[in-house]
Amino acid sequence: MSADVILYHGCLLLGSPGDAVAVRCGRIHAVGKSEEILRLRGPETQLIDLEGRPLLPGFFDAHTHFLKTGLDRTFYVDLSQASSLPEALDMLAQAARARPGEWVVARGWDESTWPERRYLERRDLDRAVPKAPACAVRVDGHLVVANTLALARCGRPEGEHVDRARGHLWEEAAEALLDCAKPDQEMLVEAAAAASRYAASLGITAVADMGGPDVLSAFQLAEDRGLLTTRVFLYLPVEELDHLLGLGVRRGFGTEFVRVQGVKAFVDGSIGARSAAVSLPYADGGGQGQLLLSRDELSHILRRADGAGLQVAIHAIGDLAIEEAISACELAGVGPEGRHRIEHLELPTEEQLDRMARLGLVASMQPNFVARWSGPGKMYEARLGKARDEVIDPHAWVVDRGIPLAFGSDGMPMGPLYGLPGATDPPHAVQRLPLEEALQAYTWGGAYATCAEGEIGGISPGRRADLVVLSADPRNVPWDRVRVYMTFLEGKLIYKET
Ligand SMILES: [Zn+2]
Repeated sequence: MSADVILYHGCLLLGSPGDAVAVRCGRIHAVGKSEEILRLRGPETQLIDLEGRPLLPGFFDAHTHFLKTGLDRTFYVDLSQASSLPEALDMLAQAARARPGEWVVARGWDESTWPERRYLERRDLDRAVPKAPACAVRVDGHLVVANTLALARCGRPEGEHVDRARGHLWEEAAEALLDCAKPDQEMLVEAAAAASRYAASLGITAVADMGGPDVLSAFQLAEDRGLLTTRVFLYLPVEELDHLLGLGVRRGFGTEFVRVQGVKAFVDGSIGARSAAVSLPYADGGGQGQLLLSRDELSHILRRADGAGLQVAIHAIGDLAIEEAISACELAGVGPEGRHRIEHLELPTEEQLDRMARLGLVASMQPNFVARWSGPGKMYEARLGKARDEVIDPHAWVVDRGIPLAFGSDGMPMGPLYGLPGATDPPHAVQRLPLEEALQAYTWGGAYATCAEGEIGGISPGRRADLVVLSADPRNVPWDRVRVYMTFLEGKLIYKET
C-alpha cells in the first residue's frame, strides 16, 4: 500500500528515529530513514523534501480563548495601535464602512498615549459612525463609550454608572451595553474560522479552549462547513457543570474536531490585576489578592465532575490559590485517571508540587508569561519583588517531579514560537527547560492534558498526521529566526509560509 504523502530529508526533533514520515489516510503510516520511507511511494504519492528542516507534531496550545482570538481578528476593531484620537475615529469609520449598518465594537483605546489626552466621547463616535451603533472599550476594560444609536439600541441606559452626555458607561451598565452588541451566530462562526486559519499559520493544530457556552455551536458549525482546521477541546464555565451532569456528558464527547472535556473553575485572579491569591502582600500596592473558591467548594465540584468522567481545569496562580486547589484534590480523593489540571500554576512551592505529583495532576502553564513579564524591571518583579519573581513559573521544578506539563498561551498572544523562549531562554534558572522538554510540553503535553495522547501529540505510526515544519532548527539559530514553514492536519497542508 503506497503512502498519500511522504515528508523526507527532515529532522525529527523529538527523539523519533529517522528523518522521514509517510502518511496514509490522515494518519502516520511509517517513520524512518528517508531511503526506506521513500520506498512506500506510489504514482499518486505527494513527495515533500524538507531540506533538513525540523519536523514536529503539530503544536497544541493547551490554554487559549480561541473564539476571542478569532473575534479580535474579525469583529472587534483594535484601537490599541491608534496614536491619536482622530486616528482612532478613522479606524472606527473604516470599520463602519466595511459592514454598513452593523454594530461597530472597538477595544483597547488608551487616551494616555494620545496628544489630546482626553477620553473618547459620544459626540466623537457620532461623528465617526453616524449610521450604526458603535461602542469602544477603554484599554483597562472598565469604561465603555457609546454613540447615540448604541445607547438607543440598548434601551437608553440610566443610573449611577451612566454619563449619557458623554456616552460613558461603567460596571453593569457597560456590561449591559456590550451584551446588546454581542456578535451573532454567523459572526461567531466567521470568528471560529478566522481563529483556525490564524492557528494554522502559527503551527497550531489543536487547542484547549476556555470559552463560554456560546462557543460550542460556533465551532460545530465551522466544522460542518469545513472551516475548522484545529482540534478544539472545550472546558466550559463551571456554571455548566449541572447541565453536563444532567445530560451524562463525559470527557471526549463531541465530534472529530470539537469535544467537551470538562469545566473550568477560578480559584483566584491574576498577578497583573493584583488579584491572584498570595501569602505575602504584593510589593507594589499591598493586599494579598482574593480567593474565589474555598477548598470545600472546589472539592465538591471535583467529586461530582470526577465521578461523571469530566475533567476540572482549575485556575490557580498565587501560592494560596494553589494550596486550595491541591487541598481540594486531596479532599476529593482524585487520581491520575481523572487528569484534572491546574491552570497557570505560577507561584507553587516545592512542597505543593510534590503533592501535585502524588495526585497525578497536570500542570498547564504559559511560558509566554515568562517571556513577557518575568525578569529584572518587568511586571512580575514590580508586583511581587525580586525573590518571588525568581521562582515564578518554575517549569523545571514541575518537570523534575514528573508532573505532566502542558504549555499554552492564554491568548496573550497565541503562538508557540513566541512563548517557547520563556522556557528555553528564561531570566531565571527554575524556569529553564531543555529544548526537547519545552517542545514536548507544547505538543504531547496538551494532548495528554486532554486525554488525546494516543491520537495526537507525537510522531509515531497510527497517530493523526498533524504536523508542523519549522523554517530553521532552534538548536542552531535563535528563536527570533525560526518561523513556521508548513502546517499539516491529517496529512493535508493547511498552511505554507509565502
Ligand atoms: Zn485563560
